[in-house]
Amino acid sequence: MNDANNIKSIVIVGGGSAGWMTASALAKVIGCDNCQITLVESEDIGTVSVGEATIPQIQLFNTILDIDETEFIRFTNATFKLGIEFIDWKEKGHRYFHPFGNYGTNMEALPFHHFWLKMQNDPEFSNLSSYSLASVGAYANKFMHPSTQQNSALAGINYAYHFDATLYAKFLRNYATSRGVCRIEGKVDEVNLNPVSGEIESLVLNDNTVLDGDLFIDCSGFKGLLIEQALKTGYEDWTHLLPCNKAIATPCLSKKLLNPYTQSTAQSAGWTWRIPLQNRVGNGYVYSSEFMSDDKAHALLLNTIESEALADINQLQWVTGMRKKSWNKNCIAIGLSAGFVEPLESTGLHLIQSAIAKLMTLFPSKDFTQCDIDLFNQQTETEYHRIRDFIILHYKLTNRDDSEFWRYCKNIEMPDSLKQKIEMFSENGRIFRHDNELFNETSWLAVMHGQGIKPKSYHPLVDRLSRDEIKRRLKNIESVISRSADVMPDHEAYILKNYTR
Ligand code: FAD
Repeated sequence: MNDANNIKSIVIVGGGSAGWMTASALAKVIGCDNCQITLVESEDIGTVSVGEATIPQIQLFNTILDIDETEFIRFTNATFKLGIEFIDWKEKGHRYFHPFGNYGTNMEALPFHHFWLKMQNDPEFSNLSSYSLASVGAYANKFMHPSTQQNSALAGINYAYHFDATLYAKFLRNYATSRGVCRIEGKVDEVNLNPVSGEIESLVLNDNTVLDGDLFIDCSGFKGLLIEQALKTGYEDWTHLLPCNKAIATPCLSKKLLNPYTQSTAQSAGWTWRIPLQNRVGNGYVYSSEFMSDDKAHALLLNTIESEALADINQLQWVTGMRKKSWNKNCIAIGLSAGFVEPLESTGLHLIQSAIAKLMTLFPSKDFTQCDIDLFNQQTETEYHRIRDFIILHYKLTNRDDSEFWRYCKNIEMPDSLKQKIEMFSENGRIFRHDNELFNETSWLAVMHGQGIKPKSYHPLVDRLSRDEIKRRLKNIESVISRSADVMPDHEAYILKNYTR
């Protein structure tokens, strides 16, 4: 390969979580010695300032950056997250937990849940959550880091964080700029395209500064300043599948225990979130403007939060879906500019992390090999589609019919990929993870069971074990989990002891 062909200049537009996560990763992995990395952001435009709940994969991102966890938790007022509680989703008064980590352990080379399915009608064994340490620990408000003793159930603790998204972007901004990323405060006013290739040549800022680059990363948020407004890439709209298109958010002081889990409560035209941080609680209402006015949504959110709002309401709006190509010519969209499934299940930051990982694997030279670009786009599409299916599942499998919104959701036309998943589980309890999809067997089991699917049968090879033997093993697993949760410290005490400055 010819060195002259290497990318020498990368320009990132946008300084939200996507921009600073990308800048930090590029600074760490590529370095700023041989390649100039510039990030332009506009404080006047601001960021979405939401995105406070994460999934465990974020630990890997922080580890790759060599971020000290204690420093990060203190800086961002973070707490720990063991999963999500879904309230009123299947029907009013019902709740279930989607945990991180496994249910039970595989037995006789078969997934645990098939043995449980055989016993699920016996009240002594019917509570699926009692086989998940994350669920039992979370409901007791317990948390600890995974034990280093490999044979301990406590070694299987899997966790993520709740944090202040604005502080996380600030943390990463310090990280990236201290490693040589050049930050420019300014507003991109014009995008110059090469008249022959159609590639982006330069950006013009509001003070007439011209920024040239070899590779442009669009982290400009929903508007997709480069990928859409300049390159007209196109968008796949999923509003008919996922009708929520607005959110309002506001923090308040906590009046409850510091739960190590997110709460998601179904409401008449969407759902509300509760995300406890060290110093406050993040609240939001995600709703469909087809089924509720903004005024009613405001009133509902202010009625459901546990204390007075600490800030003005942040109002957001989007079109659920994804860009037809995240990578087009010499521009890659990362973050909200690439698409947005919706906040349920906290996948936004993960999709940023995943796009960065793909960019590193397929990092281009100035030639921009088309087959690399195609693979990036193909993988991105599969990833978004699989996540979309998982999110639809929550809405579609509801018994609620108390509002127009829920009656609409019940009748959503499912994609074939989701139909197949539901059918496989409904028949014999089988769950398969396709295409290296984000959500694993635990997640699909938690939500399909939580939303009320009762498989007709289970894996036939389960019958090789006698009923009594299965009972004995299930009791043993439940007891190990219960004893393990007992020794976990209280989540709030754990934070106070280890992370308060
Ligand atoms: P933004 O935050 O919008 O940043 C865009 C940047 O571009 C800003 O810096 C802006 O100043 C800059 N910019 C725009 N135009 C110009 C211009 N002309 N010139 C210069 N700069 C410009 N994800 C999760 O993982 N967990 C969650 O719990 C979660 N909850 C969410 C809740 C809601 C309601 C929403 C909408 C999203 C949520 N997400 C969540 C997604 C998450 O917030 C985003 O993925 C993440 O914040 C990334 O946003 P971004 O950086 O792409 O865009």
